[in-house]
Amino acid sequence: MNVFVLNCGSSSLKFQIIETDAEMIEQDGDKQLAKGLIERIGSEAIITFQVGEQASVKSATPLRDHKAALAHVIKWITAPETHIAGISGLADIHAIGHRVVHGAERFKGSHLIDKAVIAGVQECIDLAPLHNPANLKGIYAATELFGPAMPQVAVFDTAFHSTLPEAAYLYAIPYQLYRRFKIRKYGFHGTSHRYIAFRYRKLTGRQRKDTNIITVHLGNGCSACAIKGGKSVDTSMGMTPLEGLMMGTRSGDIDPTVIEFLMHKEGTSMEEIFSTLNKRSGLLGISGLTNDMRDLEGEAEEHQDRRAILAIEMFCYRVKKYIGSYMAAMNGTDAICFAGGIGENGSGIRKGILGNLEWMGIELDDARNATAVRGKEMLISSDKSRVPVYVIPTNEELVLARDTVRAVKSLPFPC
Ligand code: AMP
Repeated sequence: MNVFVLNCGSSSLKFQIIETDAEMIEQDGDKQLAKGLIERIGSEAIITFQVGEQASVKSATPLRDHKAALAHVIKWITAPETHIAGISGLADIHAIGHRVVHGAERFKGSHLIDKAVIAGVQECIDLAPLHNPANLKGIYAATELFGPAMPQVAVFDTAFHSTLPEAAYLYAIPYQLYRRFKIRKYGFHGTSHRYIAFRYRKLTGRQRKDTNIITVHLGNGCSACAIKGGKSVDTSMGMTPLEGLMMGTRSGDIDPTVIEFLMHKEGTSMEEIFSTLNKRSGLLGISGLTNDMRDLEGEAEEHQDRRAILAIEMFCYRVKKYIGSYMAAMNGTDAICFAGGIGENGSGIRKGILGNLEWMGIELDDARNATAVRGKEMLISSDKSRVPVYVIPTNEELVLARDTVRAVKSLPFPC
């Protein structure tokens, strides 16, 4: 089956076309046929398309909305000069998998999209006012452009964390607020944590019930997850992705009183403060330079920029604290697995996080750590380390494609 994987943000659209089916999943033989990204939808959009391993092609054109962006993608896919293997027309796309950010307590797995699922995603808009409407725009546009007969599947970022125990997901606020408004931790990056845990099992030959690990996804967004018996039992993001680790532009954990304090001191609106916490904090806020870890490391190394160094130190310190707390929560861990742009590439960051944890049985192998590169699964701890540490590149699009096949063909959903 050729699955069109779609991830719509408020002004962006990311897609991949992945060939996969039950047998290919079993043998890890899925093929990525093409991918693309459209940014700045609503104005002069920036478009990047790539067929297989060929060089990507960039262009720009005005695109009014998500439907216009998707129409542009379809035109490219079906153009005779594009030549995507096995795709000569829209009939060669067999299903669509959508990333949906928030499934609240309603969606505990991936679902074939029907009216009830759409209504459910709409109900979750309250909890994800920026994300779910964009995801819905993708679903509506796909229904119009691919036709109502095209099977579409929703894969939720929150679903993997639906196994969190009450003690981990509740905030210590009046219980009625949870009852009335479902205010609680939901967690995100679920497809990523789930995939890392799955690859860990493949790599080590373990069973799901023996999967007791901490997964750390460090990209522009960052989150950690405690996985016990294959199930997510705690995770750092909360009711929204703002809670938890320090991120590229998000503050992560913060005393909520700061918000009230700032409102009084600066006379700023709640909206403005949340915009600061989401878009101008984290690595960017502390360094005053950039949200990009690679650039920050460059500044720290070349110019010994004090605030770049501080931002990196804070970033590592906070991940270390979460790892420590999850080890306490799970009575230890069998492994720690890093993923995401920083987790996969940032050898210095991994060292900053896991340094001085020998007492916990964690010891990196400097040579292994330094040679780990993006796209490669690798053990980076020393042979003496009681807790093995891995880099396991994540692949959220692959999970989306595979879940789409499973939902369309009524196959089981192994976690
Ligand atoms: P992602 O959102 O997963 O694409 O990750 C983006 C983040 O990964 C950015 O902060 C990049 O600077 C960071 N990153 C990419 N390559 C490296 C690298 N070699 N060293 C450190 N950080 C990196």
